[in-house]
Amino acid sequence: MGKLKKTKTERPKKTEPVCLECKKEFAERKEIPRNKERYCNECLTKEINYGDWSLNDEREFYENLYVGRFNFFLLVFSLFVSAGFANSFKELRYLVFYFGAFLLVLCWLTLLRIIRKFNIIMQLLFNRKGEILYILQKMAKNDGYKGRIVISKLMGIYIPIVCILFLITMGLLIQLGIMK
Ligand SMILES: [Zn+2]
Repeated sequence: MGKLKKTKTERPKKTEPVCLECKKEFAERKEIPRNKERYCNECLTKEINYGDWSLNDEREFYENLYVGRFNFFLLVFSLFVSAGFANSFKELRYLVFYFGAFLLVLCWLTLLRIIRKFNIIMQLLFNRKGEILYILQKMAKNDGYKGRIVISKLMGIYIPIVCILFLITMGLLIQLGIMK
């Protein structure tokens, strides 16, 4: 007797779920038992409220992201500074600093991405009459206040550069034997 050819067994046809809202069948890629109340994507996206999201909310969102990444940058920096000085490696201690500098450059890239968008948002807000930031800026100028330090440049460019250069310099000093 010849071998039986394996035939593909047909899977029982899955019945498509029905949307609770519009009562139409819709395609579902995978059935998840916990997902009992099913709505089709069209009905779900109807619920999104786009109107309440203002430019000022957008600024807040980016500001939080920005501050979060900046804090993370500082955290990585301080970890590598203490790891670089307080480890028991004798020969390759400088590598800790170099590796820290490399990681910081990566963190910095994520910061720079945010800054660009954040600056655009700020410019829009500063130049739109009626925005609270516009009014505050004008009132500060009426008061004779001249902003000399751009915070976003300080946080996004100067401080990261100083931190990265510090790690590279420490690495070099140790590697060259100037510092022990
Ligand atoms: Zn629906």
